[in-house]
Amino acid sequence: MNRSDSTGRLWAFNAEKEGLQAEERRLPAPGTGEILIANEYVTLCRSDLKTYAGARKEKNPTILGHEVSGRIVDMGPGAPEKDERGAPLRLGDRLTWAVFASAPGSAMDERGMPQKAADLFKYGHEQLTPQSAWHGGLATHTLLRRHTPIVKVADAVPVKVAALINCAVATMAGGMRLAGAVSGKRVLISGGGTLGMFACAMAREAGAAEVCLADPKSARLEWGRRFGASQGLEPEQVAGLEVDVVLETSGVPSAMESGLKALQTGGVAIWVGAVFPQPAVKVDAEQVIRRLLTIRGLHNYNREDLVRAVTFVEDHHHQYPMAALVEEEYDLSAVPAAFDCGIKQSPFRVGVKI
Ligand SMILES: [Zn+2]
Repeated sequence: MNRSDSTGRLWAFNAEKEGLQAEERRLPAPGTGEILIANEYVTLCRSDLKTYAGARKEKNPTILGHEVSGRIVDMGPGAPEKDERGAPLRLGDRLTWAVFASAPGSAMDERGMPQKAADLFKYGHEQLTPQSAWHGGLATHTLLRRHTPIVKVADAVPVKVAALINCAVATMAGGMRLAGAVSGKRVLISGGGTLGMFACAMAREAGAAEVCLADPKSARLEWGRRFGASQGLEPEQVAGLEVDVVLETSGVPSAMESGLKALQTGGVAIWVGAVFPQPAVKVDAEQVIRRLLTIRGLHNYNREDLVRAVTFVEDHHHQYPMAALVEEEYDLSAVPAAFDCGIKQSPFRVGVKI
C-alpha cells in the first residue's frame, strides 16, 4: 500500500510560542519494523492538560496525546506479525500500543522497566521536527516505531474505552502488579479520577475484601460505587481507616501522608498520581520501620501491564460504565476547545474523535 501521496493532519503544541497549531503533512511510508495507524479516538489525560496549562514541561514543539487507539492502515517491511498476546496483526485491526518504544533485552527491560530504557521513544512526548512526526495522538495518524509493544483490542470494546487503555488502564494494571495479591485485603483508593475508577474495579475483581474510595467530591464517591467501591470517604475520614493496600492516584501530598497513616502492619502504598512538580511529602520513618511498610512508585507501565489492561477491559467493559468516563467529546478540528473544556470543567476525560 503506497500512502506517500496522501496527507494527514496533526496538532503541533509549542508551549513557549503559539500553543496549538494545526498542520497538514505528507504521511510517511512505514520503514523497517514500523506500522502506520489511522487514529480513531484520543482521550486527554491529566498529564496532557498539565502540559497544555504550563504545569509540566515537554519537548517543544511536540504532538500531545498518548491515550489513543487506532487501526492499522499500512505495515512496513519486517513489521511485527503478532501482537504481545501472539495474535496475528492485519490491516484494519484495532490496536492499543504502549506509551513507550524501547529495544527488548536492555538492562532496564531485563529488570521489568522497559519504559525507562536508555533508548526510550515516548509517544505524546517527542520532539516534532520536519523529519519526525506522527508520534502523538492528536493527529489523524500514528507511526508506530520499532519495538513498540502492541496489543490488538477486540472490536466489542467501545472505541472510547479502547483509547483509555494505554495510559489510565495500563498504569493502574501496573499499580495492581506492584501491590501484589489483594484478595481478602482492605484496599484504599486515594483519588476518584479515571485511574481511581479503574483501581476500584480492578481491586474489586481481584477479590479485595473492602474497596474504599477517598475523594473530596461526593459525586466522585458515587461514581466509585458504580466501579465497585464498597465505601466512599471524605479525605478527612482516611485517618480513621485501617487498610492493607493504598493505591494513591490523586498526587496530593496530604492524601499520600494520610494514606500511609491508614496502613496496617505490613501494608503497601503504591504511588502513581504525583507526576507533576509539587511540595515534598512528610514521611514518619519510625512508623514505616515499626509497621514494616512498603512505598512503591510507578511511572507508566511495562508490556505485561499493557496486556493485562487490555484483557481487563475486554473482560469487564460490560460490568462497569467505562465509556461514560469520557464525559465530553470534540472533533479533531476542535482540539483547543477540548483542552479548555478539560481544564475548566475537569471531567474524568475529554474525548477527541478522529
Ligand atoms: Zn497519561
